[in-house]
Amino acid sequence: MLTTTGASWSAPTMIACGATTRLNSLCGPSHRGRSVSETRPVRLRSRITCWLALATLTACAGTKPPTPADSAPIRLITVADGATDSVTERAVAARATGILLEVGYDVSALGTPTGKLQRIARVELDEIAEIDRPAFTTRLRQWLQRHDVEGIHINAASTPAGAVEALAAEVRLVRDYLSVTSNLATSASGMATLTAKGDGTWLLQRSPSTAPTMPIALTLLGESPPTTVTLAGRSAPLQTDGEGRMAWLSNGRPDTLRLVVNGDSVHVPTQRWSRPYDYALSLYGKTHRVTPWVELRRGPGPITTAASYEILGRTDSLAQAQINGVSTHVYRTGVFFDSVELAPGRNRLQLQATSAEGEALYAVEILHEPHVDRAPLPLWIDEKSLSPSEDLELLPTDVVDLRFTGAIGHRGSVRVEPGGLELAMSRQDQTDRSLYSAQLPVRRLRPGRSYRLRVELRSSGGDVERRDLSVALKVNAGVDEFPLLRTTRPRCPVSYSLGRVRLGGPFLAEYGAGIVLQSSGRFGRYQRIDLGPNRVGYIHQRYVEVLPPETVRPGFHISSLHARPRDTEDVVSIPWPEPVPYSVQGDPEGQRILVTLYGVQTTSTWVQQRGGMRYVQRMSWEQLDAQTYRVAIHLTTPLIWGYELKPEGKSLVLRLPYPTPLPEPAASDSVTHKPLSDLRVAIEAGHGGTNTGAVGLSGLFEKDVNLDTSLRLGRLCEMAGAEVVQLRTQDSGTPYMGRLDSLEASGADLVVSIHANSAGGGFLRASGTSMYYHNPFWEPFAQRVYDRMLELGYEEFGVVGSFNYRNIRLSSRPAVLVEQAFMSHARDEEQLADPAHRQRIAEKVLSGIVDYVQDLRESERLLGPLPPSVDEDSVTPAAGL
Ligand SMILES: [Zn+2]
Repeated sequence: MLTTTGASWSAPTMIACGATTRLNSLCGPSHRGRSVSETRPVRLRSRITCWLALATLTACAGTKPPTPADSAPIRLITVADGATDSVTERAVAARATGILLEVGYDVSALGTPTGKLQRIARVELDEIAEIDRPAFTTRLRQWLQRHDVEGIHINAASTPAGAVEALAAEVRLVRDYLSVTSNLATSASGMATLTAKGDGTWLLQRSPSTAPTMPIALTLLGESPPTTVTLAGRSAPLQTDGEGRMAWLSNGRPDTLRLVVNGDSVHVPTQRWSRPYDYALSLYGKTHRVTPWVELRRGPGPITTAASYEILGRTDSLAQAQINGVSTHVYRTGVFFDSVELAPGRNRLQLQATSAEGEALYAVEILHEPHVDRAPLPLWIDEKSLSPSEDLELLPTDVVDLRFTGAIGHRGSVRVEPGGLELAMSRQDQTDRSLYSAQLPVRRLRPGRSYRLRVELRSSGGDVERRDLSVALKVNAGVDEFPLLRTTRPRCPVSYSLGRVRLGGPFLAEYGAGIVLQSSGRFGRYQRIDLGPNRVGYIHQRYVEVLPPETVRPGFHISSLHARPRDTEDVVSIPWPEPVPYSVQGDPEGQRILVTLYGVQTTSTWVQQRGGMRYVQRMSWEQLDAQTYRVAIHLTTPLIWGYELKPEGKSLVLRLPYPTPLPEPAASDSVTHKPLSDLRVAIEAGHGGTNTGAVGLSGLFEKDVNLDTSLRLGRLCEMAGAEVVQLRTQDSGTPYMGRLDSLEASGADLVVSIHANSAGGGFLRASGTSMYYHNPFWEPFAQRVYDRMLELGYEEFGVVGSFNYRNIRLSSRPAVLVEQAFMSHARDEEQLADPAHRQRIAEKVLSGIVDYVQDLRESERLLGPLPPSVDEDSVTPAAGL
C-alpha cells in the first residue's frame, strides 16, 4: 500500500517527519529503560489527564508552512513526556490537525511484575469516516516505526463498523505485540481492554485470546478498487480505505482467503505468506509485497525455553537490514539473519529494513521461560518417555528393552503382571533427571499368556510413583505359533531393522504380491519375518494379509541352475516352485550379484552355463545354513548397465541387459561428438505440486529449483545426443509410485533425480553438494557426477550409499540422486536462486553423466563384440523360460 499511495498522496511529510524526529529524541531508546522511581506518581483525575502527556509538539521549525492539502482532515499531534502540558494547547493543536496522537503512561502497569510504566500512545479521532484513511494509516505506521510503546488507545467519537478493527490491525502489522484498546465497543477479538477502575487508575488487559489473533492487510490493486469486500467466515463485509486497502483481525491465518470482490469470488492462497501478513493482491489473484517491506521468516514461537535464537528475516535484496538495531548482511535472495539472546521474561524482536523506497519495521514479542531444573522430589515419571510404547508379540528368545525418564536419583523397577515378576532398573543420572532402564528376558514369562508392565520409582524416604505402560506383551512359545503372511500388492518393502531413520530402515528386499512370509514377532504395526536362523526382516502390516492357520509354510529343494545369453541380455534362471522370500544384493567389489533364497535347501547337482554370455562369467552356490541358499553370479565387469531379479512363473529370473546398440570399437570419434547418442536418460525433478520439498530461507521452493535444473539438464542431454524422458515437466505432484512406473516403462538407460538439500542448525552451517545412490553398483556413477559438481566450488557433503529414496532404489539401471546444494544455507540458496547458476549445475551433471558413459563404453570395448546370435531353440525347457 505504501508505494501505491505514495504517488498520489499530496500531503507534505513535514508534520510526520518533524514530529518523529523530535519525538525520537524525547522518547526514543534512552527512555526505554526508565524505572518507576524516576517517574512522578500521578493520580489520574480525568479521562484526559490519565495520559501523563507532558509536552506538545505541533510545529516543525524549518519546514514549509501547511499548504491547502494539509487542511485535509489529517492532523497529527504528538505529545511526549518531559514537560508540563496545557490541555488547551493540545486541544488547539488537535483542532488544527485533526488527529491527536499522544504518548502517556498506563498507570495500572505500576502493579505489574516488571514495575515499569507502560507507555501508551493515544489516537484521538473525531470521525473516522471523515478522515483520509490511507494517509492516516501511513502516518500512524511511520510513527509506530519510530516509537516503541506498549499500547495504542483509539478514542473515537463514532465510527463505521470495522474501522477501529482496521486501525488495530494496521498497528499490529508494525508492532505485533501492542495492546490496542478503544473507547468504542468492538466485537473483534484481538482487541485489548482499557477499563477505568474508578479510583483514578486504569487497567489494561490483554486477554489470552488476543494472542493468536492475526492482523491481516490486503491491498486490492487496480484502477477502481471496490469499497467493500466480502470475506468468507466473516459476517460483516470489509471496508476498503479508498485505495483498495483493507485490514482486519483474523482468528489465525486461513490457508486460503476466500473473497467476493465485485461479485467475483477470488481465492487467495496464503501458505507462502510470512508475518506480517501485509500483501497486495493483483488483478490476477496473485499476492506480493509492496516496498518497503520486511518480514520475519523464522524465529521462536511466542513462548520459548531457548536462551538464544537465530532470527531469519527478509526484505528487498537492495535494502539494508537490522535485527534489534544491529545491521546484518542482506543476501541476494533478500534474507538476513542474526543470533539474538533472549532474557528471561518478555523480549522484543525488531526487524527493520531501509531502502530507497523507505523504511519498514516489524516487531514481535517473545516470552522466554528458561528451562527450570526439576527437583528430585516430589517423584515424577515422564509419561512420554515410557518405552516400549507399542504392543508386542514375542518369542522366548527375545529381550524387551524397558526405559523411562524420571526424577533424579531414585530406585526404579519394573513389575510384570500376572505373576508379579519384578526387575530392578539401572540408573543413569543427568543434570536434573535420571534415565531408568532394564532388560526383560521374555523366557522368564510363560508362553501363551499376555502381560502388562508397570514401572515404579521409589525414594529412600518411602515415596512411590507408578506408571502403567499402555501396551500388551504377548509371549508365543515358538515361530510356529505366529501366522504366515502373504504380501498383497506390488513393491512391498522389507527392511533389515526397525531403525527409525530417514526414509526407513535399511532396505532388504522389495516384493510383489503373493510372497509367503513367516511372522516371528509383532512390534506395533510391524511384523518381524523369519528368514532362517538369526535372519529376520521387518514389514509393515499394511503390505500383508494373515493366512489361515492350516496354511503350510513353503519350502523346496533346488537342483539345477541355468545361465545363458539371449539377443539383448544374459539370463540366469533359479527354480522357485513355491513363493518363498528372497533377496538380491549387488557386490561390485566382489564383481558379483548374490541371490539369496530363504526356506530352501540344496540338491544342486546341475549348474548349466552356456557360452557367449557377456556379463555372467560363472555361477556358484552355497548353503549358508539349514534354510538359506545363496547363488553367486560372478561377472566379467563391475561396469554393468543394470540387472533385475523377478519371479517369472516357477523361476526367479535375473536379467542383465546389453546396451543397445553395442558401441563399435572403431566409432569412438563419432561418439565423442555426441557423447550420449543412442542413450535414453530419465530425469526426475524431485517433488512437485503440493509436495514442495525443502523450503529455502527466502521461501524458494525446492520443487521449482529442481524442475528448472532438470529441464536445463534435459536440453543439454538432448544436445549431447540422448533421448530424454522427463518424469515431471510442470508443477505437478505425481505420486512416487506413478513416477516409478513411468520410470520403469521409459526404457531409460540411466536415471538422474534432481533435488536440493536442507538441514537445520543454522543458516550458514550445512553447505555443499552431495550425491546419493542405493545400489553399490552405481557408486562410480555418483562419484563421476560428484567430481564434476565439485568443480563449481561447492563444499564437499559427500557421496552417500545405501540411500533408500524410492526412485533411485533401482538395480535395473544406473540411478543417482543429485542434492545440488542446501536450500537452508544462505549462500547456497543465493546460488540456487540464480538461473545462470542452475545452468552451470546442469552442465556439470551432464559432464558427470558423459564421464560415466565413457567408463561404461570403455568397459564394453574391452569386452569386445558379441558372438553371433544364439539359437533360441536350444534353450532347455527345464530352465523354465
Ligand atoms: Zn528433495
